[in-house]
Amino acid sequence: MNKKCKICGKKIIGRTDKIFCSVKCENYYHIHLRKATDKAVENINKILYRNRSILLEIMGKHNKQMMVDRKVLELKKIYFQIPHSFSY
Ligand SMILES: [Zn+2]
Repeated sequence: MNKKCKICGKKIIGRTDKIFCSVKCENYYHIHLRKATDKAVENINKILYRNRSILLEIMGKHNKQMMVDRKVLELKKIYFQIPHSFSY
């Protein structure tokens, strides 16, 4: 079987379940995966923080469940979905 390294494309020699040709390529993959994940989490946390602030402003001291019209939330520009501009 001719498997190639996921990072550099070199032919992989050794066990059949190997994905990378070397420790260097494996480390490169995991470091970049971690950076991408951290960035995505950071962006999602920004959105969640903003949404929680808006909800706190609307609800005030109501600490129980309450109905809020969607238009009110839209006027406050709350995020219902993650914007496409927040790429991973
Ligand atoms: Zn490689």
